[in-house]
Amino acid sequence: MVTSSVVITGAASGIGRACVALFAARGFGVVAVDIDKAGLADLATAPDSADGQSGDEGSPRIVPVVGDVSRERTGDAMVRTALERFGRLDAAVLNAGIGGTLPWEADGALERFDEILAVNVRGVVVGIRSVVPALRAAGGGSIVVTASSAGLGADPGNWAYNASKGAVVNLVRAAALDHAAQNIRVNALAPGLTDTALMARHRAVPGLVEASSRRIPLQRWGLAEEHAAAIWFLASPDASYITGVTPPADGGLTAMHGAVP
Ligand code: NAD
Repeated sequence: MVTSSVVITGAASGIGRACVALFAARGFGVVAVDIDKAGLADLATAPDSADGQSGDEGSPRIVPVVGDVSRERTGDAMVRTALERFGRLDAAVLNAGIGGTLPWEADGALERFDEILAVNVRGVVVGIRSVVPALRAAGGGSIVVTASSAGLGADPGNWAYNASKGAVVNLVRAAALDHAAQNIRVNALAPGLTDTALMARHRAVPGLVEASSRRIPLQRWGLAEEHAAAIWFLASPDASYITGVTPPADGGLTAMHGAVP
């Protein structure tokens, strides 16, 4: 039996997938949640994951739950699975998110805006509401949300995503205040440009990676594994006095004023 467990949303790809590998490698039972059923199936056999290691009862350390994070039934299922399979819940990484640059005047822009808010904001609210009772029962715990540097500043054409991630940053502050007395810490990470499926469309634009990298003080995009390491820190007892914050992990991008070329 594992001694700690975590639910991780958006677990089939990118930053969430890297979190699954890291938490499992460090001994956590992991409930891996995603809307992408095929991606979760593949996760169980991924060479970089720690799956295949078994608990004392021979149960896998990574357990998939297929669902849409904006639905309460997904929140219920992921917590129920953690308690049934691992007997406790200690942490949650609420990471699932979708992007979407779109013109203000585009047909269907409001519908797309609603979809982005549903996953990126409502999905986090559903996640927090779902995990808090189990974390409280464990005597406390830690929630880490994946926000974005796009929630700390704005980009042209990215208003819907900017709005959703800005909301997440303040939601995390509010949730931290409301749950501190229960020994539940709530933080977020604000990744900058990161080489995942979410950015595949942008990556495919000739010269975009090079041009954007030149504007980043560290001169490169981030890696999912680097964000998983920061999320691990925020979730761990090493961050025991940190709550309500959203540190950027963006190679220095948001540190820059940008007025002087
Ligand atoms: P990704 O596309 O590789 O992974 C996102 C995962 O979330 C996918 O597996 C997808 O199937 C899942 N997902 C999407 N909608 C869902 C839903 N409704 N319910 C359940 N799962 C759902 O992208 P990523 O870059 O790893 O993104 C992870 C998080 O990081 C997101 O919140 C994203 O906004 C944020 N982020 C990414 C970047 C970047 O540059 N890649 C930068 C800042 C923040």
